[in-house]
Amino acid sequence: MRPARALIDLEALRHNYQLAREVTGAKALAVVKADAYGHGAVRVAQALEAQASGFAVACIEEGLELRAAGIHAPVLLLEGFFEADELALIVEHDFWCVVHSLWQLEAIEQARLSKPLTVWLKLDSGMHRVGLHPKDFQAAYQRLLASGKVAKIVLMSHFARADELDCVRSDEQVAVFEAARQGLSAEVSLRNSPSVLGWPKVSSDWVRPGIMLYGATPFGEDQAIAARLQPVMTLESKVICVRELPAGEPVGYGARFVTAKPMRIGVVAMGYADGYPRHAPTGTPVLVAGQRSQLLGRVSMDMLCVDLTEVPQAGLGSTVELWGKNILASTVATAADTIPYQIFCNLRRVPRLYSGA
Ligand SMILES: *Cc1c(COP(=O)(O)O)cnc(C)c1O
Repeated sequence: MRPARALIDLEALRHNYQLAREVTGAKALAVVKADAYGHGAVRVAQALEAQASGFAVACIEEGLELRAAGIHAPVLLLEGFFEADELALIVEHDFWCVVHSLWQLEAIEQARLSKPLTVWLKLDSGMHRVGLHPKDFQAAYQRLLASGKVAKIVLMSHFARADELDCVRSDEQVAVFEAARQGLSAEVSLRNSPSVLGWPKVSSDWVRPGIMLYGATPFGEDQAIAARLQPVMTLESKVICVRELPAGEPVGYGARFVTAKPMRIGVVAMGYADGYPRHAPTGTPVLVAGQRSQLLGRVSMDMLCVDLTEVPQAGLGSTVELWGKNILASTVATAADTIPYQIFCNLRRVPRLYSGA
């Protein structure tokens, strides 16, 4: 069998979830959208169900997958419903539902529901993606209450720049949120991973950690609490071919790397079709037979090349960690000019093997 695989450490996942609880003292919805950022939503939710206050997904399709797997915990739909006829399913499966637009509010007012909803009413506090305008927020809250269709309302908003630790924008967003919710006695939810890790003064009854659960930092710089995260996914494969090349020989498509001296090169069964970023350049760190080395030349669809010149113990069959406990996903992401969120979500084709269930 092809040796490429993703090892998923569920103990580390639980550690990271617990860290989010511990540093905030809040209830935490584990964000498992996009197949738990490539880690497998059902397995992740099963591993966290005993300790999690609930889960958050992007849409009803993702929520139904959790329910079909027997997850009974609360599940919040972060984009709410896309069409009014989803409301019947939302009630049937007890999903919690974000309301971010006036058309959704109107749809709830007009719906015939067999049970009242739990609504997370979302304010646009300055990110300008989704969320109600501050001038509409109080009226929307009152209309939801008056509709008789809603059992509970949580007030929420989302940060645009919480990963920038010295940026004032998050404070400005908090101020907009506080002004908009004045006088309303409802629980609130503001904090995503960067805010959980880096913004201890933001109060939030519910936090919504995503990337931190998977052990990757959302920051571009070192940060004390992020340093306590444990990587959950190890993407690894094996050396399937070894070549000795003299100086002046090209390696891979486009001859993007040319040996400047005699080199020993390992070909690894891993490529961009597995989700390894094609834009990772020569020099991106990899771990070969326990020793740090580097990527050489262009990443191709199913294979990539690594430098074995200084790793004499490595050879055919040696294990290569592309990211994991030693080579951080955020390091690889930065090298490839992207973010760990994206490289996790891009994972495909490789089997996922779970430990610590
Ligand atoms: C994805 C998402 C989160 C989680 O964000 P992280 O940065 O991964 O912690 C939280 N809240 C909302 C509304 C989201 O869409």
